[in-house]
Formats: sequence, C-alpha cells, structure tokens
Amino acid sequence: MLESEVISCRRCPRLVAWREKVAREKKARHREETYWGKPVPGFGDPQAEVAILGLAPAAHGANRTGRLFTGDRSADFLFAALYRTGFSNLPSSEYAGDGLRLSGLWITAAVRCAPPQNRPTPRERDACLPYARREFSLLPRLKVLVCLGSFAWDAALRIYDVRPRPKFGHGTECETGGVTLLGCYHVSQQNTFTRVLTPMMLDDILLRARALGVKNTNTR
Ligand code: SF4
Repeated sequence: MLESEVISCRRCPRLVAWREKVAREKKARHREETYWGKPVPGFGDPQAEVAILGLAPAAHGANRTGRLFTGDRSADFLFAALYRTGFSNLPSSEYAGDGLRLSGLWITAAVRCAPPQNRPTPRERDACLPYARREFSLLPRLKVLVCLGSFAWDAALRIYDVRPRPKFGHGTECETGGVTLLGCYHVSQQNTFTRVLTPMMLDDILLRARALGVKNTNTR
C-alpha cells in the first residue's frame, strides 16, 4: 500500500537524518510530545476533485503531528480558508485525530520529509515525486491541483510532464490534459504576515478550484 511505503521510506539520507534529528531535539514548547519524525503521507477525501500540493512537511508542524498542514501557523491560515470555502469541517488543524474531515479535497506535498530550511534539493524532489504521481493516479475524480508556491508548481509540471513549462504565478492555470494546475502563493508566514497572500486571495483560489473541478467534470 502506498501510504505504508511512503511512511517507511529512507531514500534520501540527508532528509532522513534531519527529520529524525528534529524529532529527537524538539522545540521547547513541544518537548513533552512524541514527534512523528517520519515521511508524511497525503490525506483527505478519496473522491476529491481538488488536491492541494504543498512543498514539504514543516519541521515542527507535520513532522511533529504526522499530518500535513497540521499544528503550525501555515495550517491555521490554510484551514480557516478551507472551512470558509466548504472543503473542511473544522476551521483549524491541530493534531491527527482532531475530527477533521475534508470534503472534495486531498492534501499532499511534493516532498514527504521535512527538509532543512524548507529547501529540498532537486535530487530529493525527484526521488520523492513518484509518490505524488502514484497518489494522484489513485484519485479517480481528480480534476484540479492547487500548487502552493513555485516549488510545488514546478513539481506538478514534472509529475504531468508539461513542456514547455509555464512560469509560476498566483492564479496561473495550466491544462495538462486531465488535471488543471492552479498556482497559489504558499501559505507560509513569510507570505501571510506580509499580506503577499491575504485570506481573500486564498479564498478566491479555492473557489476557482472548486468551479474548475465542476466544469472539468461536466466536460470530460
Ligand atoms: S523525501 Fe520522499 S523519497 Fe526522500 S526519504 Fe522522504 S519520503 Fe523518501
């Protein structure tokens, strides 16, 4: 099964060492917790028409909680928007087992292990992309992939073998012959604190994704 294969993966020595070091050393305010410290699989609605592709687990977010976009400030921003737009039953994502359910949405990442400085190498990206490729092939209704940031956009272009590769932009759309890629600024604090990405901008992207999902379902 794909999920157990992802969780047990040790293909990238640098990332294995980093994710396990972070899990051992911990952040002071989480020192009583047991960190996940392993690759993080995607999660959500298996009948999703829309998927979100992030960069990689955050060191003290998903690498701690074991669920993508769970337990950090990026998660707070993202899930408030997912709740407003009807993709999530809860407005926050605190820990695995918190009762969160996604509707019509799958969440995953280009790279499954937390990388130092949030920067996987091209070799690490290429080693991990087959997991996302397989994951998407297992979502029979998938029509739209929201790519959070240029790293995820670039990864999606590789997954769907798009050539030439269009430049990333917030709101940029790219047809791949089955799934539409939709660019969105990443929900990192660097973008949300500076209002490069506002709640309204994220809502607009998610509503556009839903509309594209309906349109593509009706026309294919
Ligand atoms: S980043 Fe991906 S390929 Fe590399 S060790 Fe983690 S799960 Fe495996």
